[in-house]
Amino acid sequence: MIGEYYCNYLLITGYVCERTCRRPEGCFEHWKAKPRIPCKVCGKPTSSEPGLCRKHASGYYVTQYINRLRDNARMAEILEEARMLEDAKLLEDARRLEEE
Ligand SMILES: [Zn+2]
Ligand SMILES: [Zn+2]
Repeated sequence: MIGEYYCNYLLITGYVCERTCRRPEGCFEHWKAKPRIPCKVCGKPTSSEPGLCRKHASGYYVTQYINRLRDNARMAEILEEARMLEDAKLLEDARRLEEE
């Protein structure tokens, strides 16, 4: 039995499976497996979401977390500014009422 396709599943070792198979998706062992892609940073095969190995993905998530914190801080600043504007407006209204 000779397969028509080669399994191109990237093994944890960094080698491609290359087993012959009848499915274009891969060999009997890997056709259902989540495809591994080399980590964008170190090239270690990974199946994790952002295309980064566990080590570098944690860095990625930390960056995401920091960005989120930064966004929150910016949001707090915007709210603070809005509150100040609101206060200024109220003050202006109060002054206008006094003048009338
Ligand atoms: Zn395979
Ligand atoms: Zn990595």
